[in-house]
Amino acid sequence: MDCCSHEKASDGALNVAEALVSDQQNAPAPQDDPEHACLTCRGASRPVTRKTMLLMLKPELFDRVDDGEYRFCTSANCRIVYFTERGGSIFMTEDLRVRVGLKECEGEIPLCYCFGFDEVGVREEIARTGRSAIPQRIAALIKQGMCACPERNPSGACCLGEVNKSIKRLAAEMTVLSQPV
Ligand SMILES: [Zn+2]
Repeated sequence: MDCCSHEKASDGALNVAEALVSDQQNAPAPQDDPEHACLTCRGASRPVTRKTMLLMLKPELFDRVDDGEYRFCTSANCRIVYFTERGGSIFMTEDLRVRVGLKECEGEIPLCYCFGFDEVGVREEIARTGRSAIPQRIAALIKQGMCACPERNPSGACCLGEVNKSIKRLAAEMTVLSQPV
């Protein structure tokens, strides 16, 4: 299997940027203007479709979904996942069938919902090779039309931005840990 073949870092970075551009529909940037802020943490949010919500929420909660325009709170420290700007029903992390990776800091932390990459895999790869090629692998799969972010990711959006952020954070943590005391 050739899934781990090494590309030059610059090529890899280009692929990720290209994939994000070609996948703009699935990757709306979070908006942090006050008009769209989370009602609790006042942080940035992005619009989420009713279909994504119905796929993510526990079925017994469906009748709490009202007809407002729902948004996904992107703050790591806020337990609210879905809210409406007009203050209708809100849904918290425990209301979903899946763990919201960007709001968790222990246990199994999913990073990419379409292809199943998680923090454990990233840590292993960085420990082994000093870097992670997961963004390039995700970018290649997106280009092949393989992603299903609106159906798989609680935010309804492409995971690449979050994956890149997590890899940077994990790499920095691991560098600190591996330095001699
Ligand atoms: Zn929030």
